[in-house]
Amino acid sequence: MRSLVRAIPAIVGFGWVLWYSVKAEWSKVVAPNWHWVVIAVIVSTTALWLLTNLVAYRAKKAAEGAKKEAEEARKRIATKCPKCNKPWARALDRSEFLGREQNLDYDTHYVTDVHRDNEGHQTGTTERTVRIPYTYNTDVSRYYYHCKFCGHKWTRIS
Ligand SMILES: [Zn+2]
Repeated sequence: MRSLVRAIPAIVGFGWVLWYSVKAEWSKVVAPNWHWVVIAVIVSTTALWLLTNLVAYRAKKAAEGAKKEAEEARKRIATKCPKCNKPWARALDRSEFLGREQNLDYDTHYVTDVHRDNEGHQTGTTERTVRIPYTYNTDVSRYYYHCKFCGHKWTRIS
């Protein structure tokens, strides 16, 4: 669909040339070398189409690269040995399920308070937010690691 949209200039340009070719002043406007005009329009719109595709492709690749780099940096830190400090050192030996942990979080809700006078007629409203607590469970395990370089052993609970 997007490439169809990008093809619009080519279609318009081609249509424009065709329209001029059937007009009476055709010989005056585009001269006998009309096919060169058609070729020029096709070549330039194709080049433009290719260029926009290339730019979009490069932007996409750059975004992917940045995301990958950030993920790599995160992993470098996560896999560091606490003793020798080398990255990519962590090797998982085993994990042990410890149980389920209850976590507390809050949801924000919007509440409208209605104010009434002594006769019960509505006199106005007030908006306010309330935070409703809720709990959710997560699995907690202990992970046993060793360092690939110095053999140091450590555990982590998460
Ligand atoms: Zn180490």
